[in-house]
Amino acid sequence: MDIKSIQILNNNIKIPILGMGMYLISGREKVRDTINCALKSGYRHFDTAAFYANEEDIGRVIGESDITRQELFITTKLWNSDHGYESTFRALNTSLNKLKLDFVDLYLIHWPVEGSRLESWRAMERLLADGKTRAIGVSNYMKHHLEELFDHCQIIPTINQIELSPFNYLSRADTINFCFENNISIEAYSPLTKGYKLKDPDLIKIAIKYRKSTAQLLIRWALEHQFIVIPKSAKMNHILENADVFDFSISKQDMEYLDGLNEDLVTSWDPTNTR
Ligand code: NDP
Repeated sequence: MDIKSIQILNNNIKIPILGMGMYLISGREKVRDTINCALKSGYRHFDTAAFYANEEDIGRVIGESDITRQELFITTKLWNSDHGYESTFRALNTSLNKLKLDFVDLYLIHWPVEGSRLESWRAMERLLADGKTRAIGVSNYMKHHLEELFDHCQIIPTINQIELSPFNYLSRADTINFCFENNISIEAYSPLTKGYKLKDPDLIKIAIKYRKSTAQLLIRWALEHQFIVIPKSAKMNHILENADVFDFSISKQDMEYLDGLNEDLVTSWDPTNTR
């Protein structure tokens, strides 16, 4: 298992701390070129979702590659319209068929949909016991969603995948603290702010000091916080660049400066108001 380093989840499963985000990478050729480039660059961890509509192409490419199943870490997610006890089983089976896998490494609830999310979690616990996934977790869960889950679950999530960058870190502090206090790993999605902030003058100022790009600075920032991080790129030079983040570290002072850039940025969905 590569990309330099792994984190051990609360159920003793190992996860590479840098993974490849697969949102908006679709179409047979694009998926093939992206994954092959990522594998050559050392990535072994791929983050997809039923919603991304690329599981079938990902399955085909990893099936054709020389990399063994044991070396790979594949995450997929339960989509909002599939919540419920029975439908969660059906949803993972559909994903597994598309991915041509017997099991995924991590299955996440994509979004804390109101109503049936506790039933879905009960199914996730069963899917874990049945060996259909090696770990279960959640995404877009804020502190209040996790507290509700804790009151009802048998097994706590291994991971909470949430949007994180210096531009929203402080606004997520409650959730982050709750996760770390309870041994839940944090996975940072949209760590590059979907590209919106890559030309931010404050970021450029710090990145220059380390002779790194702003994208590399943001990925390293996430790693310094002990977050697992999943930047997306479909460009060969960016895929390589984003993996070249293990030869520097950010000083405490610069981390504090970056953390202070908070502006409650939300680039996709804001889960804070979902009850
Ligand atoms: P990111 O923050 O990873 O940003 C991706 C954008 O940055 C793309 O436009 C990409 O363009 C560009 N980019 C990547 N690397 C570089 C670079 N080195 N220099 C300049 N530009 C760069 O956005 P995502 O929203 O895709 O987040 C990453 C992953 O997180 C997703 O792919 C998905 O797996 C997950 N995610 C999960 C969500 C959830 O609800 N659980 C929600 C959103 C994302 P290019 O391709 O041209 O390089």
